[in-house]
Amino acid sequence: MNPIVEVPIVEVQDFGVAFGLKDRPLHAVRGVNLTVRPGEIIGIAGESGSGKSTLCTGLIRALAPTARVSGRVCFDGRSLYDLPMREVAAMHGRDIAMVLQNPMTSLDPLFTIGNQVREVLKRRGVPGAQVREQAIAALKRVHITAPEMRVGQFPHQLSGGMRQRVLIAMATSASPRLLVADEPTSALDATIQDEILLLFRELRDRTNAAVLIVTHELEVIRRVCDRVLVMYAGRIVEQGPVSTVFAAPQHPYTRALLASTP
Ligand code: ADP
Ligand code: MG
Repeated sequence: MNPIVEVPIVEVQDFGVAFGLKDRPLHAVRGVNLTVRPGEIIGIAGESGSGKSTLCTGLIRALAPTARVSGRVCFDGRSLYDLPMREVAAMHGRDIAMVLQNPMTSLDPLFTIGNQVREVLKRRGVPGAQVREQAIAALKRVHITAPEMRVGQFPHQLSGGMRQRVLIAMATSASPRLLVADEPTSALDATIQDEILLLFRELRDRTNAAVLIVTHELEVIRRVCDRVLVMYAGRIVEQGPVSTVFAAPQHPYTRALLASTP
């Protein structure tokens, strides 16, 4: 046993998220208890509509304004839903990075790629003199060719896969304490997918960040994650070390999921 017990970065107690009318709520997430420690890479699996995205956005208080939240989420020991929104926004700029499913929802169409990457680096405390160079290096790491030219372009001048890689560069280049990636590689070629997954591990190894990856690809979880959560109908029905869960799944849904994957 490791004698140094790290303080959790995220602690969730009896967390629930409901949408819809008060008298006819849709419980997208319910009864979730979860602890995320620095340095852990956690995979979240589950069929479409099982609440994976809602849980991820709920953990960092980035839900749609119509969502109704219950239970408690602590980020770095502070009750996230009790903080003023201004402080939460500051955390998002500094401590939390997120890669969403749809790239166009996150790159600003009005600013160049370089502008947006440099902005993230500056917000995360990279000294001014290094920002330009580090932005180029970050784009190179996600295999954007000719990054010196790309920095002057706008999001619509890049392909969907490239935009996704820019977002991943923004999320992994500075040093977030928590990275949430929602289906980050589903739109990418298999060869690039491998490189991106390695980037997540590199980030963890370099900064001891915690990483949450939502994916329907069990192979991704097998390759990069330490721990897996399986969601079904808004609940975590199974969680544990990847090797344990994959070798001996306990919940019928996990068994079905593993059986249906080649
Ligand atoms: P997953 O990511 O696993 O596919 P989601 O978290 O996106 O699942 O969705 C879980 C449930 O919550 C679904 O029934 C979905 O329709 C519902 N839901 C998600 N976001 C909203 C929203 N903004 N308003 C209303 N219902 C939503
Ligand atoms: Mg989703």
